[in-house]
Amino acid sequence: QPSSLSGLPAGVGEALEAEGVAELYPPQEAAVEAGVADGESLVAAVPTASGKTLIAELAMLSAVERGGKALYIVPLRALASEKKTEFERWEEFGVTVGVSTGNYESDGEWLATRDIIVATSEKVDSLIRNGAPWIDDLTCVVSDEVHLVDDPNRGPTLEVTLAKLRKVNPGLQTVALSATVGNADVIAEWLDAELVESDWRPIDLRMGVHFGNAIDFADGSKREVPVERGEDQTARLVADALDTEEDGQGGSSLVFVNSRRNAESSARKLTDVTGPRLTDDERDQLRELAEEIRSGSDTDTASDLADAVEQGSAFHHAGLRSEDRARVEDAFRDRLIKCISATPTLAAGVNTPARRVIVRDWRRYDGEFGGMKPLDVLEVHQMCGRAGRPGLDPYGEAVLLANDADTKEELFERYLWADPEPVRSKLAAEPALRTHVLATVASGFASTRDGLLSFLDNTLYATQTDDEGRLAAVTDTVLDYLAVNEFVERDRDGGRESLTATGIGHTVSRLYLDPMSAAEMIDGLRSVARDAAGAAASDEGGAGEFVRTGGDDGDEPGFGTYTRPGEDGEESEEGETPDGSDTSPPEVTPLGLYHLVSRTPDMYELYLKSGDREEYTELCYERESEFLGDVPSEYEDVRFEDWLASLKTARLLEDWANEVDEDRITERYGVGPGDIRGKVDTAEWLLRAAETLARDVEGVGGDVVVAVREARKRIEYGVREELLDLAGVRNVGRKRARRLFEAGIETRADLREADKAVVLGALRGRERTAERILEHAGREDPSMDDVRPDKSASAAAT
Ligand code: ADP
Repeated sequence: QPSSLSGLPAGVGEALEAEGVAELYPPQEAAVEAGVADGESLVAAVPTASGKTLIAELAMLSAVERGGKALYIVPLRALASEKKTEFERWEEFGVTVGVSTGNYESDGEWLATRDIIVATSEKVDSLIRNGAPWIDDLTCVVSDEVHLVDDPNRGPTLEVTLAKLRKVNPGLQTVALSATVGNADVIAEWLDAELVESDWRPIDLRMGVHFGNAIDFADGSKREVPVERGEDQTARLVADALDTEEDGQGGSSLVFVNSRRNAESSARKLTDVTGPRLTDDERDQLRELAEEIRSGSDTDTASDLADAVEQGSAFHHAGLRSEDRARVEDAFRDRLIKCISATPTLAAGVNTPARRVIVRDWRRYDGEFGGMKPLDVLEVHQMCGRAGRPGLDPYGEAVLLANDADTKEELFERYLWADPEPVRSKLAAEPALRTHVLATVASGFASTRDGLLSFLDNTLYATQTDDEGRLAAVTDTVLDYLAVNEFVERDRDGGRESLTATGIGHTVSRLYLDPMSAAEMIDGLRSVARDAAGAAASDEGGAGEFVRTGGDDGDEPGFGTYTRPGEDGEESEEGETPDGSDTSPPEVTPLGLYHLVSRTPDMYELYLKSGDREEYTELCYERESEFLGDVPSEYEDVRFEDWLASLKTARLLEDWANEVDEDRITERYGVGPGDIRGKVDTAEWLLRAAETLARDVEGVGGDVVVAVREARKRIEYGVREELLDLAGVRNVGRKRARRLFEAGIETRADLREADKAVVLGALRGRERTAERILEHAGREDPSMDDVRPDKSASAAAT
């Protein structure tokens, strides 16, 4: 048992030994010497696969042993469950583990009873905003992949979250795990932590460039891998690894490419290499796996994946459904899949080591940059770090590809001999601060402008910047925005400016909305009443005109508030409501609501492809009356283009809610099945938020609240209105609901009464499924024993 380990729950040391931890790796040893098991804060900047997780476990388990509570922050949701499963092996020593996932709602009470909690930074941020009481009890926080503070989208959240946790718990032990970066010392300074920095790895990593007939490694060695004329370089390298036996088997490869499409076509091409090298047994197992993938989804993506997997090759990107991604990762670890072609997302998270990593594309299209941009050194090093499977390979090989001598030189300079870039805080960007300033004020971390600035002094940004005025300047811009939209009230009292969040400001912060999304939604929801009044006004000579109170900034969306005519007692003297007679208020349609949430900054965009502009412009005019708020004019180029892009998303959502097949949707919008899920989840969350806002802000009618709720439910289940009741029964889903409905079973109550043969027929004879569904519908006797499916029911259903 590693001798230097003490202060851990009884049995942990022995268990580690049984897992093969005979002694600590050098960076782990250094971490223990720095006091990581005695409550000291630490930044560990060490390469991938060199045992960072154990450093975190030593910190957390010793904290729990001292009676404390630990939080492990991960960058991706997929990693949260992976880490939770990993830590659950400590439960037998009395340490409880919980994971907090789900879409931003608070599940605080149960978590309060856990010793170790795993969550994403967004989730932790949300839990703080919602006042989860156990936050105060934390004694140890671990931040995994802390170098991601550099990420413009997600970095600021991690940064502010760590600052908040450290503010509420002044003695908090902070352990930050980082890839090797250029400035780990600055991160350590920011977190008042000891620094352990090392490039030690348990398995050697050889990095090289393949050009012509050989790989030249940075250590001066060389490996002949001749490529025949007309032969593909990547294919040759994958074949070479597979044909070289090190532990009785050939080695697997990970190929990194720069787009989903390239990942898919690369996987297809590489089946020519992997397929012929499979054993009969592997072929059988892969066929089964392919069948699982096919039966899970009827999209082209799934069927392409299954075709490749059958041959021992796979692709991996964010457009895959998460089940399929996990299947690919598992089968790769089990050495069934011989080669994965992946986009760089795979490098960032999941543990999928390979004998050989091939970085095929080192440039990627970047819209802002306006062309192909070289990847960061940090990113390429992380991909390369996936090479070498502990216990299986003598060393790992990472190979970049060059097709001329100049490129080879450039790759050596740029990636093999270069150090990774320093990480830089991205906090001083307006969208990031907009969200975090509101949350900081709303959850009581600051109540004055000065207090806010001094809170922001605890961030990495403040540690790094030489330009102290910049953060203050952006903060003031953001405060102006929040005040104009009535999320924050400012009060000047002498030299002190006090800040309080308004009721809506609190709501927006708790809902985890970007304030700009909230402003857009509030404006859109209020426009319903405004348009109704407008319609009434044109009928009744202006009687229903709206009164604008507060804000005189003209037509800017989201500015000012509107009160309903009648509420201030002026307009309806005759006791007549303006919309009471023959003027019906504009109807709120699902498409209108889907468009509203799709144009907020919280929904990531679908881009317009060639031909889309014309198609969606036409659709825009066809359905103009359904949009909430004013359609920008075609001459406002950028705004109009954005509007159309949101319309594309909105129609995708509408298709989903109209029961259009998944594969038809992926085709129509050029997206993967995983993207549909992503859009649907985001829309569901935003519509839930919109419903709360609709209820809380003034000037939105109850009918609008109902419309929002219905539009949300249809998205949740992906069905038309008449199926909502059925689709709500567990295990039913959109397709089965439709088949049951066609067979005459229209509601949950019908399921309890229906002829079992008809149910079974509609469910295509699947007895187990039928039984489970009947059980969930509350049927007394769900058994399908001796029931024969009614064939006419299944015929009617197809
Ligand atoms: P990182 O988080 O740095 O990427 P991991 O923590 O996942 O790396 O460690 C990689 C592998 O090394 C894991 O399988 C882990 O069990 C193993 N490992 C970690 N520390 C030791 C050790 N001291 N002795 C033997 N194996 C270890």
